[in-house]
Amino acid sequence: MNCVMDRRGIVHVKDDESFHKPLLPIYKCKKELVQAAKENQFLIVTGDTGSGKTTQLPQYLYKAGFGKNGMIGVTQPRRVATVSVAQRVAEEMNCTLGDTVGYQIRFDDCTSEKTVIKYMTDGCLLRNTLTDPDLMKYSAIVLDEAHERSLSTDILFGLLKKQFQLRNCKKRKYPLKVIVMSATLEIDKLSAFFGYCPVVTIPGKVFPIKERFFNLIGPRDKESTAYITETVKITLQTHLNEPAGDILVFLTGQSEIEKACHLLFKKAESIDYRHDVYDSSVEGLLILPLYGSMPTEQQKRIFLPPPAGIRKCVLSTNIAATSVTIDGIKCVVDSGFVKQLNYNPRAGLDVLEIVPISKSEAVQRAGRAGRTAPGKCCRIYSEEFWNKCMPDHMIPEIKRTSLVSVILTLKCLEIHDVIRFPYLDHPEEKFILEALLKLYQCGAIDRTGCVTKLGHFIIEFPLSPNVACAVIKATSFGCEDLLLPVAAMLSVEQVFIQYGDSLIQKEAERSHEEFHELAGGCNDFATLLYIFEQCKSSLNPSSWCKNHGIHWRALKSALNVEKQLKEITNRLRENKDFPIERFDGPKNEFLRRCLCAGYFSNVARRTMGRTFRTMDGHGSVVHIHPSSALFGKEAQLEWILFHSVLVTSKIFVRTVCPIRYDWVKDLLPKLHDIDAYELSNVAREEVTNERIMKRESKDETGQCNDRIQEAI
Ligand code: ADP
Ligand code: MG
Repeated sequence: MNCVMDRRGIVHVKDDESFHKPLLPIYKCKKELVQAAKENQFLIVTGDTGSGKTTQLPQYLYKAGFGKNGMIGVTQPRRVATVSVAQRVAEEMNCTLGDTVGYQIRFDDCTSEKTVIKYMTDGCLLRNTLTDPDLMKYSAIVLDEAHERSLSTDILFGLLKKQFQLRNCKKRKYPLKVIVMSATLEIDKLSAFFGYCPVVTIPGKVFPIKERFFNLIGPRDKESTAYITETVKITLQTHLNEPAGDILVFLTGQSEIEKACHLLFKKAESIDYRHDVYDSSVEGLLILPLYGSMPTEQQKRIFLPPPAGIRKCVLSTNIAATSVTIDGIKCVVDSGFVKQLNYNPRAGLDVLEIVPISKSEAVQRAGRAGRTAPGKCCRIYSEEFWNKCMPDHMIPEIKRTSLVSVILTLKCLEIHDVIRFPYLDHPEEKFILEALLKLYQCGAIDRTGCVTKLGHFIIEFPLSPNVACAVIKATSFGCEDLLLPVAAMLSVEQVFIQYGDSLIQKEAERSHEEFHELAGGCNDFATLLYIFEQCKSSLNPSSWCKNHGIHWRALKSALNVEKQLKEITNRLRENKDFPIERFDGPKNEFLRRCLCAGYFSNVARRTMGRTFRTMDGHGSVVHIHPSSALFGKEAQLEWILFHSVLVTSKIFVRTVCPIRYDWVKDLLPKLHDIDAYELSNVAREEVTNERIMKRESKDETGQCNDRIQEAI
C-alpha cells in the first residue's frame, strides 16, 4: 500500500495506485490541451463535471514545463473544493501537500517555496493581485468552475483581460497564460469576452437518468422549511426501494444538513434490514455530511468507497453539483433549494437566503447520478414548482451581492473608473454606486473616489470593511485584544450547535442563554468574546465546546484567525501613518464604541413596541432575532447596532448590542452627505451616454470598454 504524509504529519493512504487516470475523459485530449495552452494566451476548456479538468489539467501543464517560470495557479470558488482537490492531486503526484502541490484559502496557507501547482480560492488570488498586480509569481492562471460565476472569478476575468492585454508584454519575459475552465455553459459568451479565444471541448459520456417529481413541495412552499423533512423522507424511501448504489442528497447549508443527517440517522437506525430493504445486499446506511467548512480529514471519507454491504449517502450543499465529484453515485435526491447570498433591497444589505435553484442547476444535480452507469433522480418538488418557481439559469453573483469589497480591491489596484471596468456581466449601476457610498461612509475612499490611508489599512484585513474598521479603531486605542476575538468569531462558521432533536436542542439553548447572562446579558458581541475567552483558557477546549453546545471546529478556526489578525495589526502599527488615539470613556463602553466606528451604517432606533427602524436611508423596519441576548428586552432599548440580517416574513437583525446616540451622532450624517455619482469619478450624463453608445454598438466582446479605457 502506498502512503503519503502531509506537512502536518497526517498520513494519507492512497486508495488506488493508478487513480484511474487513463479512464478519465480528459486523458484523450491531453496532447491537444497542452498544445493549445502553448499556442494561446487565453484558452477555454470545457467538459462535463467529473471529466478530470480540475485534477488533471494542472498536472498536464506541470509536466509540459509550464511551472518552470512561475507557479501554475488554479482558482476555485469554494474553500472545501480547493483543499480537497489539492490533497487529491498531491496524492496523485505522490508528493507531500504543501510541497510541489499546495493550496491557499483565507486564513490557511499550505504552500512553500517548492510549490508549483497552487490551488486557491478565487478570493485569495484576487487578494494576491494587491501585492503582485502583474501576477509575476505565476506562469499560468487557471480560472476553474467559471460557470459558477462567483463574484471574485468574475472580477478576475475583467482584471486578467484588462491588465494583461495592456501590460503583459512589457514586464514579463514570458506572457502569462490564462485558462478558463467551465462546465458546458455560456462558452460562446466567455470566448467572445476573451477576444474570441479558442475552446477545447472534452467529449463526455452521460448515461440516461430517470427523473421523477415527487410533488411534496409546490409553489406555495417557497418560503417554508418543510423541504428538509420531505427530503429526508424521500431519501429513506430511496434507500429502502433502490438496489445497491450510493445516494447523493442536495440540501442547502450546514445547519440544514446536520438536521437532516440527524433525522435520517434516527429513521435508518430502526430499519430491519432483513425485511424492510428491497435489495438484500444492502445491510446498512452510512450517512455523511458535506459542506463548505468541514475539516479536511472528514471530507476525505466522502470519497472513500463504503464498506461492503453498506450504502453511502452523502448529504451535501451545492458543492457536490460541480466542484467535487463523488464516484459510485446511482441516485440523486434533489431538495430544489440552495442557500445564496443575495442583496436584499428591503434590508439594504447582503442576506443569506434559501431560494429555489435554477433549471440548469437541477439538470446539473441530476447528472451526478449518471456518470458511470444509468441513474435516477428524485425531485421532491412538483412539476408546477419547476415551471413556476425555478428560473432557467442562475443569476451571477456579481448581479446580486454587495460589491463593497471588490470595488475597494479594484480601487487599490488603481482602477478608478469602476463603472467602466470590463465586466462579463455588468452589475447594475446602482449596486456600484451603493458600494462606493458604503466605502465613502466608512472612510475607505474620499469625496473624489480615491482610496484613503484608512482604505489602504482596511484592505490589509481579509475581513469585510465594517469589521476591519472596528478592528482598526480598537488597534488605534491600543485595545485590539477585545476586538480581535470578536472579529475572528464573526469570520467563522456558525458557533452555536443546532440539534435537530428538540430535547438536546433545548439543553443547548439553555447553555447559550447562560453565556448571554455571563457576558452581561445585553450584548451579543460580548457573548462571542466571552465564549472565545472561556474556550481559550480551558484545559481541554474541545470537550469544553462539546459540553456547552459549541462547535469546536468553529472555535478552533476562530483561535487561528485571531492569531493571524493579530499579526496584521502588529504589522500595521509599525506604519507611521497608522492612527493612534486615546480612549477616554468607561471601559464597558469600549467594545461597543469601536463597533460603532465600523458598523454605524447598521444602526437602528426603536420606533414602537418591539420594532426598530434602520438609519441608512432605507429606513427598513427590523426586529431582534430570537437568538439574541436582547430578544424580549426591546422595551428597554432605544438605539441598537447589528452585525447581520435574516429575512423571512420579517426582517430580523442578528448579533446585536445597544448603543448610545451620542456615539454615532457625528457619524450618521456621513450616510447622507454625498451623491454617489460624485464618488464614481464620472458625471451622470457621461455614464448614461456611454451606456447608450455601448448598447448601440452591440459590442459584446468588451472591445468597446477597452476603447473607452484607452481614451481616458
Ligand atoms: P472535473 O474538474 O472535470 O469536474 P475532476 O478533476 O474534479 O473533474 O475529477 C476527476 C475525477 O477525480 C473524479 O471522477 C473523481 O473520481 C476523482 N476525484 C476528484 N477529486 C477527488 C478527491 N478529493 N478524492 C478522490 N477522488 C477525487
Ligand atoms: Mg472541476
